[in-house]
Amino acid sequence: MTQPVPTAATRADGAAGAGPDRAPRALDTDVLVIGGGPAGSTTATLLARRGWKVLLLEKERHPRFHIGESLLPMNMPILERLGVLEQVRAIGVLKLGADFPVEGGNYNVFRFDRALRGGAGYAFHVKREDFDKLLFDHARGEGVDAREAVKVERVDFDASGRPKQVHARDAEGELVIRARHVVDASGRDALLGSKLGLKQRNRRHQSAAVFSHYRNVPRRDGDDAGNVTICRHEHGWLWLIPLSDGTTSVGAVCSPDYLKQRRGETEAFLLRTLNSVEASRERMRDAVREGPVHVTGNYAYDCRRMSGPGWSLVGDAWTFVDPMFSSGVFLAMNHAERAAEAIDGALRDPAREAALMRALERHLTRGLKEFKWFIYRFTSPTMKRLFASPRNVLQVEQAVISMLAGDVFDARPVLWRLRIFRVIYAVTALRIAPSALRSWWQRRRGIRRGLAGDAMQAETP
Ligand SMILES: Cc1cc2nc3c(=O)[nH]c(=O)nc-3n(C[C@H](O)[C@H](O)[C@H](O)COP(=O)(O)OP(=O)(O)OC[C@H]3O[C@@H](n4cnc5c(N)ncnc54)[C@H](O)[C@@H]3O)c2cc1C
Repeated sequence: MTQPVPTAATRADGAAGAGPDRAPRALDTDVLVIGGGPAGSTTATLLARRGWKVLLLEKERHPRFHIGESLLPMNMPILERLGVLEQVRAIGVLKLGADFPVEGGNYNVFRFDRALRGGAGYAFHVKREDFDKLLFDHARGEGVDAREAVKVERVDFDASGRPKQVHARDAEGELVIRARHVVDASGRDALLGSKLGLKQRNRRHQSAAVFSHYRNVPRRDGDDAGNVTICRHEHGWLWLIPLSDGTTSVGAVCSPDYLKQRRGETEAFLLRTLNSVEASRERMRDAVREGPVHVTGNYAYDCRRMSGPGWSLVGDAWTFVDPMFSSGVFLAMNHAERAAEAIDGALRDPAREAALMRALERHLTRGLKEFKWFIYRFTSPTMKRLFASPRNVLQVEQAVISMLAGDVFDARPVLWRLRIFRVIYAVTALRIAPSALRSWWQRRRGIRRGLAGDAMQAETP
């Protein structure tokens, strides 16, 4: 066993002076982490703290743009344990709740301080270029050999399915890395999940997103100024997230069928979608775009396994759920924290590796299911009705707020109340079934007409 080495002085270093045509440089490390986003930097930091020699490779250079700017209250204790909470406070916008606009220009506000089990009661919105750089630099400060502009190209496995060596490339040429454990935290690239054929589209929930940053988007008043606003539209949902530089992150998530209607005019499509909802139309009236418009295609997926001998997937590299409730960064960092614990256990006692990883996967899957249940139903008329006039019978509304805060792991008082919410949902769905069916049918016909119009236009010379 490689002895734990606690400091940066013992980093895994390649031979100096290698050029593009030279022989690959060889590196040995205990843990190789692929990807320097929140999942990768957190896993790397916590393993280095436990005394392991950790190499963290990021293909880009921080600061770099990334979507996913709104954090959850349950992320705050993780930031505190990492020792970066105050630094994040300094770059963030205070987020006290989530707004769900209802008719007549009003908002239903779910304040996090009403969550069932207390907790932080707040979170932050962050510009990800700043946040991710902060976490990456912090990892380096904690003894991680954190390198930027190094792309991992390939992982070779031996006959037992264990990573034999990893090939990466930087400006000076090729690196060949041997590690006792390889963590794939490459985000939506899902390097290992793709290579091993584990990645599969989520058939239950297909959506795409169009998003950008805008200036001149008024904020809500008073304590609500930092709330995330989440609106339903005919074909999905919208977000408005206030950022510290005065801009607002704005995006529309929609069905792939609806996205096809954009006819190449991506910003016009985004604005049309925003204008279809009263609350966002009002806020976007004088908006001026600042930065490119991004499109992310069909995006929900998961990998059939989370780990194998000597390797594991962490964060988006394992699974991606629709970020409707701003859960992505929290899920990635929560996963990272627990993965670091499991990997540490596996390195100390390799015979326990499979059991530790199985237990971790079971645990994470259970919590994720709570988010997914709401996400799959969020745009349904039933959920619309329940969110428009929430009732706190048996503290069920507070349990929903806890879910919105991310409190779905190890949370028995929250989870049994969420079961009651499901019963309320089922009863309400039965009651409104006829009108719901009618509106679903009208929506389908609307999309078909739009697509038929596209086809006719394409045929017209
Ligand atoms: C439209 C949209 C909106 C979202 N909104 C929110 C939100 O409001 N709140 C929220 O919490 N989450 C949100 N998310 C989700 C959030 O972006 C992710 O869940 C989060 O970034 C996951 O962190 P990660 O570290 O797993 O992956 P990432 O943050 O993607 O980090 C992966 C890193 O790996 C690097 N990498 C990839 N391949 C390689 C390679 N071969 N070699 C080396 N490095 C590599 C990448 O450059 C990247 O830096 C949103 C996502 C989308 C698509």
